[in-house]
Amino acid sequence: RRIGYAVVGLGHLSLEQILPALSSCKKSKLTALVSGSPDKMKKVAAQYGVKPANCYSYQTYDQLKNNKEVDVIYIVLPNSMHKEFTVRGAAAGKHILCEKPMAVSQQECREMIAACKKANVKLMVAYRIQYQPHNRTLRDILKKGEFGNAKFVDASNCQSSANPEHWRHKKALAGGGALPDIGLYCLNTTRFVLGEEPTEVFAYQYSTPGDPLFKEVEELMSWQMKFPSGIIASCSTHYHVHESRYYRVLCEKGWLHMDKAYAYKGQQLSTARAEGMQELHQQIGLAEKDQFALEMDHFSGCIIENKPPYTPGEEGLQDQILMEAIYQSAKEGKPVKIAASTEIPRGP
Ligand code: NAD
Repeated sequence: RRIGYAVVGLGHLSLEQILPALSSCKKSKLTALVSGSPDKMKKVAAQYGVKPANCYSYQTYDQLKNNKEVDVIYIVLPNSMHKEFTVRGAAAGKHILCEKPMAVSQQECREMIAACKKANVKLMVAYRIQYQPHNRTLRDILKKGEFGNAKFVDASNCQSSANPEHWRHKKALAGGGALPDIGLYCLNTTRFVLGEEPTEVFAYQYSTPGDPLFKEVEELMSWQMKFPSGIIASCSTHYHVHESRYYRVLCEKGWLHMDKAYAYKGQQLSTARAEGMQELHQQIGLAEKDQFALEMDHFSGCIIENKPPYTPGEEGLQDQILMEAIYQSAKEGKPVKIAASTEIPRGP
């Protein structure tokens, strides 16, 4: 059977990526919509064949409880709304797939995990990179050990934004600026490929004085993370430079580089490795797959087989803990130690 999804919020991500991806899913299908814009929802419902009876407003959202065609609620709203819609969705007895960042505080993440546990529903954070073939391949090559031990990671996710009125530039709705929106990819992907948790962070933050874009949220965050094996990751994120999205893992005998690492498509994986006196360069070509379809089908598979997802709520909480430490370090101008986290209860 295919798992039925209600998509909440019909903004850019839903309209341009998630709804088209659902059409190509093998284990998932779109069955309902939730939106604050009835006219837009009517058009989208007609386009994707969603019945008018399966269209909900934010006020009638809780009635999803009575809709047997909906198994999963996919929350694609501004960050500060994730908690409320997760808690209400769990109370309606539905599994929750929540966009990143999971929420705007540790406290909210913990409430979301507790609400899903109490309602006995699954909670997954939509970290699409962890389901994307190039990124998974890089992680698997590292694990095999032919490049020797990883020693250093350089990760950067930068873009240019222009509208100070957008919710991403309002602290109350976004929770922060470049860090939780795009810097999070450097943080989460580094943890994913290394399979370790940082023990310390050290950060610098900057916003151009007087720039209306950065009145409430940061423009730049640059930070380092120290891992138990001795690896240092140097990460940067910026909201006002030309797009640049990469990471490079430097190992004893070579390096692995991912360009367009966090983009929706076009990942380019290249490696260099010492072979005797020579350096071998390789471009690893892999078939392009829709990351959103892979991510949703993963969650649907977990529901069908009753397994925990690979990126459960605890994964989102861990990133939130680290982001709060990064802000604290930038504010205090000194490193911040991270308390050892309990093991993340992830599935295979
Ligand atoms: P968007 O601004 O394009 O859409 C947001 C939607 O929320 C709109 O339909 C808007 O009408 C609705 N909304 C409801 N209440 C609102 C309010 N008070 N203020 C503003 N909008 C309100 O944003 P988006 O790019 O679709 O992002 C939505 C979520 O998805 C965010 O959490 C974001 O971080 C996440 N996201 C994830 C990825 C990814 O690759 N996984 C990419 C982009 C966005």
